[in-house]
Amino acid sequence: MVSEIACPVCGNKVEVFDICDHCGWHNSGPGETEDSVQGPNKMTLKEAREAYKKGLKVS
Ligand SMILES: [Zn+2]
Repeated sequence: MVSEIACPVCGNKVEVFDICDHCGWHNSGPGETEDSVQGPNKMTLKEAREAYKKGLKVS
């Protein structure tokens, strides 16, 4: 069974541990932290949220 969460960056529905179709963020599931770079992401969650708000690309 696939579980979905709201993307921590943009709020779009995304599968746990998958890449968001909307913003490109790779979520790290429930254990995600704001200040460390995890998985294939090149920015922290905090930076990704800021980039998204400014309309920049999340990576
Ligand atoms: Zn997203």
